[in-house]
Order: sequence, then C-alpha cells, then structure tokens
Amino acid sequence: MGSEDCIFCKIADGRIPSTFVHEDETCVAFNDLSPQAPTHILIIPRKHIDSLAQTEPDHAVTLGQMLVTAAEIAKNKGFSDDGYRVVINTNSDGGQTVFHLHMHLLAGRQFVFPPG
Ligand code: 5GP
Ligand code: ZN
Repeated sequence: MGSEDCIFCKIADGRIPSTFVHEDETCVAFNDLSPQAPTHILIIPRKHIDSLAQTEPDHAVTLGQMLVTAAEIAKNKGFSDDGYRVVINTNSDGGQTVFHLHMHLLAGRQFVFPPG
C-alpha cells in the first residue's frame, strides 16, 4: 500500500483530523481507536515505512525517536514509575494489521508475558 491510501499517513499529515498526544518533526502520537488498556497510544513516524521488517540502518534515528517519545509520554502522563509496555507488531505472525510502522504504548493495567 502506498502512502496515498495509508490511514496512518492521512492521520500524520492532517488529511484525517486527529488530536496528537505528541508531535515533532519525526513522529506523531495519538490515541488508538480501539484501546486495549486504559492508556493505549500509537507512536508513528511521519514518513511511511510499511513495518519494522522494512527498516534499514538509515531509520535508526527515527526508531530511536519513537522509543524516546514513548518514555517522554509515560513521564508526562505520570505512569512511568508504575510501568507500561511498548509493542511493535510486525507482519502476519506478529499480528500487524496496519502497514505503516507504529509502536503501541500501553499502560494503566498489569500486562502478562508472554503476550498471546
Ligand atoms: P496493529 O495490529 O497493526 O499492530 O495495530 C493497529 C492499531 O491501529 C490497532 O490497535 C487499531 O485499533 C488501530 N487503528 C486502526 N485504524 C485506526 C484509526 O483510523 N485511528 C486510530 N486512532 N487507530 C486506528
Ligand atoms: Zn503510511
């Protein structure tokens, strides 16, 4: 799927109006449509990348920024000490359904490991 038809590209570039929890030149964060925890935020790069499997060494800064953003949001929202989980579902076995790279930031309940 090209970025023209990608739902997360539309959110990132404002074609679908959304409320951002965080935005900078590299990535944006917004609430998941179907939350799986009291807090469920998606952090995505502005630039379209299909999945983690498509990343290359050039993407290291973007991937790092996504992780740093997750930690910043956790601190700002006050759940850093209690804890949280970050997840990147990748391709079919990983359960990925939207093919624009995204990181789930989940908090507000106890998570089990390994996940189902
Ligand atoms: P995946 O299964 O690919 O890791 O996660 C995709 C996530 O995107 C799901 O948690 C789903 O609820 C969320 N999602 C799908 N479409 C939309 C949308 O249009 N807006 C928002 N905010 N979340 C979406
Ligand atoms: Zn996209």
